[in-house]
Amino acid sequence: MKILKFGGTSVGSAERMKAVASLIQNDEPKIVVLSAMSGTTNALVQIAEKLHQNMNQEARALIDALHDKYKQVAEELYSSPAKKKQAEELLINHFEYIRSFTLDLFTIHEERAVLAQGELLSTALFQFYLEEQNLPSVLLPALNFMKIDENEEPDTEYIAKNLRSELEQHTGNKLFITQGYICRNAFGEVDNLKRGGSDYSASLIGAAADAEEIQIWTDIDGMHNNDPRIVKNTYPIAELSFDEAAELAYFGAKILHPSSVYPAKQKDIPVRLLNTMQPEAKGTIITSQSKGGSIKAVAAKDDITAIKIKSGRMLLAYGFLRSVFEVFERYKTPIDMITTSEVAVSLTIDNSKFLDEIVRELKEFGQVEVDQEQTIICVVGDFIAERSGSGLKIFEALQYIPLRMISYGGSKNNISLLINTTDKVEALTRLNDGIFERNTANA
Ligand code: ASP
Ligand code: MG
Repeated sequence: MKILKFGGTSVGSAERMKAVASLIQNDEPKIVVLSAMSGTTNALVQIAEKLHQNMNQEARALIDALHDKYKQVAEELYSSPAKKKQAEELLINHFEYIRSFTLDLFTIHEERAVLAQGELLSTALFQFYLEEQNLPSVLLPALNFMKIDENEEPDTEYIAKNLRSELEQHTGNKLFITQGYICRNAFGEVDNLKRGGSDYSASLIGAAADAEEIQIWTDIDGMHNNDPRIVKNTYPIAELSFDEAAELAYFGAKILHPSSVYPAKQKDIPVRLLNTMQPEAKGTIITSQSKGGSIKAVAAKDDITAIKIKSGRMLLAYGFLRSVFEVFERYKTPIDMITTSEVAVSLTIDNSKFLDEIVRELKEFGQVEVDQEQTIICVVGDFIAERSGSGLKIFEALQYIPLRMISYGGSKNNISLLINTTDKVEALTRLNDGIFERNTANA
């Protein structure tokens, strides 16, 4: 069994959906996981915002506009009047449901139900298309098996058990279609795996089904060595290890949802990143092995806040770091980078929601300095201790850029540097020119 996940742009129009249908036409057993059509989840978020603000008139206008867009898609997607009619009715059902929220109380629960409509629509429309093309397939409702627990973590046992029983009801079928992103929560309500979560769905489904491979199909030919939106001459990395991919995904490579690496790694299932627009391109394969060159890629993560706590008196004492960490724990704020000296500790966070509260509590330990608009540059590769010289290359490339923090040795895969966001473009460009040996990295 293979899992093939197609992102929003890959199913973003009638034409793209047809292309996906032809890509999946072979005899290999597979589960196809779809995102919402591109732009849909954003539109649903906007609709929910209006509803939260009681701006029902505006919400209704947005709902109508989205409905019109889907009518157009259905018009282009099907050729038979029967399927057009079926799709028209489907759209009426979903959009009347969304419209019903303009008449009643709107809370976070209703919002989640609204956000789920994008994936429900894309998969239903796609299934109709396969039916019209006489391609036997089964639509598996993700809400029957995808589940998160009280801590918003996937309930992997439940998922495996329920996915298996769904599949068993259709033995003999080879092609299954299901929704990414959506799930039920601990209370059985409709919920989701957070923005970009369809990759995570695919990986969880892959792990639950003991798949032989998880394919993530997007609109770029794999994970690149640098951010192609910022830097010219980037190239896809042929092979990455799970750990390298996780670091890159977490530190800014938009192609893959960071959480999606873990379930695949747990079950040692290869993850392949492929391009719908260029299906013959090799893309990137992510496995348990790390091959090809010591420096593989760089990624950047913005909106970082650096916090320095200076306390000559307390830093030497054991238990000091624990007290500092406890402050962050109380505010459920993860720490990304950390460096220490004899008199100070610096750390970074990317969620500054409780910054004021955190700073107030930290002031009890000493002097606190806060720097905002920082960027973490993360250099990823295989930096085992014997391999020297990577540091020199990186620092040489960045010699004119002020470095606020450096973190090396936390793992063998990552060197992180904190810079001002205003220096990001220059840093990424200089690193691109200075640290990669394309041939070895791509070997
Ligand atoms: N449709 C959801 C989003 O836009 C999930 C996904 O596409 O991965 O965030
Ligand atoms: Mg995505």
